Amino acid sequence: MTDIRLEDVSMIYPFHKVGGLFYRKEQQKILEAQKAMPYTSNEGVIALQHFSARIDQGEFVAVLGPSGSGKTTLLRIIAGLERPPLGTVRYDGCDLQQIDIDDRDIAMVFQNYSLYPNQTVYQNIAFPLEVKHMPREEIAREVEKIAGLTGLTDKLRKMPEELSGGEKQRVAVARAMVKDPKLLLLDEPFANLDPLMKKKMRELLRKLHENYETTIIYVTHDQYDAISLAERIIILKDGITQMDASTEEVYNRPLNRFCGEFLGLPVMNIIEDVRVDKGSFELFGEKHALNAAQKKKCRDRDLIDVGIRGTNIQIGDQGVKAEVEYVEIIEADRIIHLGLEGRKLTAVEKINDAGRLTYLKGDAVMIKADPDRIHLFDKEGNRI
Ligand code: ADP
Ligand code: MG
Repeated sequence: MTDIRLEDVSMIYPFHKVGGLFYRKEQQKILEAQKAMPYTSNEGVIALQHFSARIDQGEFVAVLGPSGSGKTTLLRIIAGLERPPLGTVRYDGCDLQQIDIDDRDIAMVFQNYSLYPNQTVYQNIAFPLEVKHMPREEIAREVEKIAGLTGLTDKLRKMPEELSGGEKQRVAVARAMVKDPKLLLLDEPFANLDPLMKKKMRELLRKLHENYETTIIYVTHDQYDAISLAERIIILKDGITQMDASTEEVYNRPLNRFCGEFLGLPVMNIIEDVRVDKGSFELFGEKHALNAAQKKKCRDRDLIDVGIRGTNIQIGDQGVKAEVEYVEIIEADRIIHLGLEGRKLTAVEKINDAGRLTYLKGDAVMIKADPDRIHLFDKEGNRI
């Protein structure tokens, strides 16, 4: 059993006492930027603010956010490597700091996991079990099992320097999983790998999650990793949770404009400053009525931002006329870049045999938005 509860955790990295004029100017800039934050501090960089979450036994959660949003800090706090000045971290109801390090049963994999260079792959993977004084035959059994799952069976006698980047990272994952930890923490583990290797590593993680009961927390700035792996996504920005919900919900009902634009490729189209008029708004020449809940959140004459994903724009014989600028092909999708009254839009179509062959620059097409898939945001960026 491992469930994790973080309550109202804030983390500040104090400024260094030393440093010249340049350093003090940098500090001033950080402090100015932090003034608008709900939690303010004059002592340092605020890396995490009022963070609360519960992660249950066996869950696979992704923490997604841009660089500097506090992901690594959060992971280090969950691992007990960093002690936040505010808030509590509990494992199965016990304060993390009260649990002996050896009893925590947490494994971590980082982006640049350094293997022991003078030891074989076998020795690298076996190490956590040797530390536990497990009998030799049992170690061999466990190492072979995990090597089988991670596709390393024929690499066990090799030295780390003889491995490719992807293989090294598989050894790191194998070493983390071999002791069947209660909690596996991964910090951008595949960031340095090429797309094909990344795909393989994702498949491997999924398989491991099915085979072991480990709770997995996966930190990444890559939305594709998060969407394709996790059942639940926590989106972080400036150390603040933007949304914590199932992957489906984050994609289909983003709570704010940031989440809408951060998740989904191509990036969600946003049509800014659309005026609400008599309880409705106009998009691509069509009027859409606000529903009752939306009406409560905005008044007539208000300006709103309207979001529509490229996959929810239909190209056909209805709607408004737009002009094709260029076309990209990504896997089975055709991404059509359009110009509409000086605005740039992207629409996405599945390429299929029955469909049209292609679009040419300058083609005029009619576009229409799926009325059930329109996202409305107020000028603060919150979902209406
Ligand atoms: P991420 O992993 O999302 O890129 P981090 O958790 O590494 O973000 O960093 C969050 C913020 O905290 C950043 O502004 C970063 O500069 C700052 N930070 C991280 N580690 C330290 C540290 N040891 N000392 C001072 N500031 C830090
Ligand atoms: Mg990081």
